[in-house]
Amino acid sequence: MTDLPTALGASPDVPAGPIDPAVEAALASSAVARAEALLEFARIPSVSALPEHAEDMVRAAEWVAERLRRVGATDVAVERTALHPIVYGRIHEAPGAPTALVYCHYDVQPVDPVELWETAPWEPFLRDGRFVGRGVADDKGQLVMHLSALEALRTAGRAPAVNLTFVFEGEEEYGSQSLYAWIEANRDRLEADVAIISDTCYFEGNVPAITVGLRGIMYAQIDVELSPVDLHSGMYGGSVENPANALARIITALKGPDGRIRIPGFYDDVVAPTDAEREAMAALPFDDEAYRAEIPVPALVGEAGWTTLERKTARPTLDVNGMWSGFQGEGAKTIIPAHAHAKISTRLVANQDPATVYAALRDYVAEIAPPGVTVSTTYIHGGEPSLTPIDHPATQAAARAIEAVHGVAPVYIREGGSIPVTAAFDHSLGLPVVLLGFTQPTCNAHAPNETFLLENFELGTRVIVRFWDELATLPR
Ligand SMILES: [Zn+2]
Repeated sequence: MTDLPTALGASPDVPAGPIDPAVEAALASSAVARAEALLEFARIPSVSALPEHAEDMVRAAEWVAERLRRVGATDVAVERTALHPIVYGRIHEAPGAPTALVYCHYDVQPVDPVELWETAPWEPFLRDGRFVGRGVADDKGQLVMHLSALEALRTAGRAPAVNLTFVFEGEEEYGSQSLYAWIEANRDRLEADVAIISDTCYFEGNVPAITVGLRGIMYAQIDVELSPVDLHSGMYGGSVENPANALARIITALKGPDGRIRIPGFYDDVVAPTDAEREAMAALPFDDEAYRAEIPVPALVGEAGWTTLERKTARPTLDVNGMWSGFQGEGAKTIIPAHAHAKISTRLVANQDPATVYAALRDYVAEIAPPGVTVSTTYIHGGEPSLTPIDHPATQAAARAIEAVHGVAPVYIREGGSIPVTAAFDHSLGLPVVLLGFTQPTCNAHAPNETFLLENFELGTRVIVRFWDELATLPR
């Protein structure tokens, strides 16, 4: 059993002053209870992907709902969906102030390979300034931070200075399929001025950061068909098109050696990063060689005219994710394959639209398809990119909160991946999204020994408290 007071004794001193002294006092006196709450929550194996954990999912949802009720949230509900429940609640006690939608997820990734964990993954611990256990960083720690901020406000006799509506999801690690329909069906309960998503990281080296952009995705498959069965390459070779060769020519035409995607219109809707954003990105402590060596790969390549960091976060991409055709066994088999296939995906940036990009790909593939084979393109799935400008008042409110607590201004980063709910809040509800995440980049999310630094847990909780105060001053 972890000796919590000792573990907490090793924690860094929190600077005094950035938040209401009464709330600070409440946080200071609840440090052990808050850490214990995270450990208790992380002991619930709420793995959304595995059917055997269905009851644990309900247990985790109920745990969250109970905590929301305890801090005086109203309309608390564990909402049934086709799969795992969504926990809803609200604290609307600031008439005239803006409303923020707060999102975290209570589901976690599976824990295998279990033998690589320092301890049993469902027996989380706090030692030497770090929480270790499945979900402590992604995303239970961050959810507990929001609950902790509320508790401390209540202890201090206060209500949040903004109106808060909580949406805690249980399918983030499993595609968020239930969430979209639920959002559509509950738009009137989700009216807000801004969405706050706490499910991202600080920058490399644990530098406080605000993520302003996420990429979207468009995933498709290209199928090239020649004949019902493979053909003898001696009898037919030279007289028919080879689907594998044809597919290779199509793929080659999609992207040039300069890294530019050649689908006509592909870049039409791309919002280029501003000069200020490019300067800020260039100033980030990012080392190309260290990045290359860590992967490791022989060399870094990408679109001409952009830095590695820009290429992997702020620029769209096109990649073959898989391809197959013909004989793949050992030795030789002299055939012309009957068919050839490729899975293709593009990572999208604001304001590209997956459906538009798909249509452009489909039309271009049809145009360049060689004669003698049948070529078809199929849409598999898509997700929209999102971008909240650095100078948006909500982003700036978050920046002031981070600077007040950490003593340094945050850096602004983009992430190359996607958080689907972001696009749902951004496009479906039309809300500006603040991605205010607190985990250190080395948190081993989704991997063995998932870790959350106590320092981030403590400081981040204070950032949340301050952020709500800052948001209250937002023009409506
Ligand atoms: Zn997450």
